[in-house]
Amino acid sequence: MTDRKDELAANLAKVEERIAAACAAAGRAREEVTLVVVTKTYPASDVRILSGLGVRHVAENKDQDAAPKAAECSDLPLTWHFVGQLQTNKVRSVVGYADLVQSVDRSKLVTALSREAVKAGREVGCLIQVALDAGASERGERGGVAPGGIEELAGLVAGAPGLRLDGLMTVAPLTGEYAGREQAAFKRLMDLSTDLRRAHPAANMVSAGMSADLEQAVAAGATHVRVGTAVLGVRPRLR
Ligand SMILES: *Cc1c(COP(=O)(O)O)cnc(C)c1O
Repeated sequence: MTDRKDELAANLAKVEERIAAACAAAGRAREEVTLVVVTKTYPASDVRILSGLGVRHVAENKDQDAAPKAAECSDLPLTWHFVGQLQTNKVRSVVGYADLVQSVDRSKLVTALSREAVKAGREVGCLIQVALDAGASERGERGGVAPGGIEELAGLVAGAPGLRLDGLMTVAPLTGEYAGREQAAFKRLMDLSTDLRRAHPAANMVSAGMSADLEQAVAAGATHVRVGTAVLGVRPRLR
């Protein structure tokens, strides 16, 4: 356990250095970027260690792993983000622990989230997940709505009881015009965020960048980076 704590502390320090350097290079204050540690596939004991090391935001992508983990860690001062593709039959469970859902990408999900948030007496922050590789009005392979669908979905979230529209999220595309061009992809997300904030000024979260491309995300203006592997190690199983 102590070994694991040392390992996580060292990894966290390296990630912190990378974020600080990226902020400095971009002329941004370090406080403008929030680190969200993606703890998927790792045990609750790791989440507890990370909390002790000062991590305040964690993210999960599968409800069946996340729900028991969040329950085990309910005494910790953590904000839980859900970042995975979300089926409507899992929404009730997710709303039980998630403070934010970063993967809102269709109207049926908005309806379900709103209903369960109201029932649970909770307010859930929502990020619209944008698929920069999706065709005009399609959804992306790994979830997300095409840029043309953001406005309508944002309006639905903003008007839904129990939900709060917080901003946009993306994963750098592996296919299409942005494949291999992470910074261009994240800049595009920033432009979409600028458009969104004209109608919804408070929806100022921009979640982009993972272990491999957090520098590009910070350079483009991201407010939240989601880092898994660089903090916890290479995941034992592919999820
Ligand atoms: C797993 C995951 C991450 C973290 O990826 P790493 O490459 O391990 O840093 C970020 N965002 C989402 C949506 C993920 O599923």
